[in-house]
Amino acid sequence: MLKQTLLIVFMFGLVTSVQGQTAKRTMAVTVDDLPYVNIGGGVYLTNARAATAKILNTLKKHKAPAVGFVNEDKLEDSRERIALLREWVDRGMMLGNHTYSHPDFNRLTIEQFQEEIVKGDVVTRQLMRARQPYQLYFRHPLTHTGDTKEKKAAIEKFLETRGYKITPHTIENSDFIFNVAYVGAVQNKDEALAKRVRDEYLAYTFAATEFAEKVSPQIFGRDIPQLLLIHANDITADCLDEILKKFEERGYTFVALDAVMADPAYQTKDTYVNKYGPTWLFRWKKSKGMDVDFDADPEVPKWVMDLYNSR
Ligand SMILES: [Zn+2]
Repeated sequence: MLKQTLLIVFMFGLVTSVQGQTAKRTMAVTVDDLPYVNIGGGVYLTNARAATAKILNTLKKHKAPAVGFVNEDKLEDSRERIALLREWVDRGMMLGNHTYSHPDFNRLTIEQFQEEIVKGDVVTRQLMRARQPYQLYFRHPLTHTGDTKEKKAAIEKFLETRGYKITPHTIENSDFIFNVAYVGAVQNKDEALAKRVRDEYLAYTFAATEFAEKVSPQIFGRDIPQLLLIHANDITADCLDEILKKFEERGYTFVALDAVMADPAYQTKDTYVNKYGPTWLFRWKKSKGMDVDFDADPEVPKWVMDLYNSR
């Protein structure tokens, strides 16, 4: 009798865990170009404070522990700007190194890029001092990880020696492109256009998400934790609540970057050398020598792209 009961309990557990599978997706959120990307003119600090408050309140509301990647040249030694970063730390978020001035590694020598890394988190480390020990994270600007094998390997070694982990991403929603059309519309007080851009941006975000959800099992034979890359800009500040809500509806809970990085899929070595900055799903696929169809990768609508290119 006891055996039977145990068997039933065991089987019930199996069934519920299988049924619960789609409801158990996880994701880490990373926000680049901190403290803020000001493209619309106007007072940096005013815009930055508004966007920072929206982003942090939204992350808190959805219990999303994010990592913000900083470009310290934007701080300009300003106490007010440093205070924006302190808010991230005070709200329990992590800060990472995104180089000092956001250069394109394709255009730099190994030595120049190393300098950018060394200068990249001086203030950040002071702000994070109370959180020690913590994992140091680095993200390459434009996710350009090295356009030659030598450059890529040299910087990987340099980062590893200094205790950094390279931060991949599996979903990016080109928010920096949509942001140009969005900020323009807001400045012209064209609410209809602003809404149209927001709608396209949300549609694109979820097309990119569905794509990552489809491709991950083709590479790893299972769902993997996803890693979202967004930027500290206006369109993200204004849409993040809706984006995170929609992720929750898809079964996601938000977890720390450390948890995502601990997944075996993320131990896959990225050996793919290129001058572009593709998602790590593409890099892992290439690194494993697999033939996975990336043709369904969503495209930014042409009119949004045109506005971005004509800035
Ligand atoms: Zn960036």
